[in-house]
Amino acid sequence: MSDLIKPDLKFLINSFHHFNKLIFSNELPTPDFRMSSARTFGGQFKWTNKYNPATKKINPTAFRIVLSNFQSRPRQVVEDIIIHEMIHFFITYKGLRDSSPHGRIFRHYMNHINSKLGRHITISMRGRQSAEKPSDALCIENNRNIPVEHSAPTVGKPEKSYICLAEMTDGKTLIARFAVTMILQIDREIRTWDKVCSHSWYYSTDSCFSILPRCRSLKLYAPDSRQLKVLAEKRTIRFKVTPDGRLRQI
Ligand SMILES: [Zn+2]
Repeated sequence: MSDLIKPDLKFLINSFHHFNKLIFSNELPTPDFRMSSARTFGGQFKWTNKYNPATKKINPTAFRIVLSNFQSRPRQVVEDIIIHEMIHFFITYKGLRDSSPHGRIFRHYMNHINSKLGRHITISMRGRQSAEKPSDALCIENNRNIPVEHSAPTVGKPEKSYICLAEMTDGKTLIARFAVTMILQIDREIRTWDKVCSHSWYYSTDSCFSILPRCRSLKLYAPDSRQLKVLAEKRTIRFKVTPDGRLRQI
């Protein structure tokens, strides 16, 4: 572990192509590469979900891998961080539905790569820095943006949809459809999310929302123009909690 390096963009790009060939059979497209001086994470994988009206599917796009050069680390550790982010990339790109950002599928690939290539890729939770585990990737995933997890669109059959529309601090407008039983919890969570400026709830039976998964956790998606138009013409809805703990629309 004496081989300390301070990674740069060239190292990130070269490593990506090396491991893409070695581990992922060159299946990953070349993402956007960025360096960061952040101390709170070692690497990040980001992407955007985009709705394709032709196929009526939400596809992941605009992939980006960010690597922190805040501190010098052993070369092996930096490589493990890059591979860690590439596993996220692979899962997202393939549209695999994992149980959580570091769920069953992620750990399957991680363990397989570790044993096959003698690597030490690990999972680290947000912001936790561990001196005992220098190989921790210390990643922060874009885990508000879980990869494709949409139900099959139902054509022509109106479905009840409770939609949350959120105005984000970066100026974007995002939406999500939630199970009615989750509204109270989601409403609480979204209020504490610092990237959300404001949010409002809508009820609709328009089939344009059927493409969205009925989420049971806080996830937001980029709306298409039709969904935005439908919401713009609707009034927001408000809820109150009844004494017996039920949610009632007011
Ligand atoms: Zn991760």
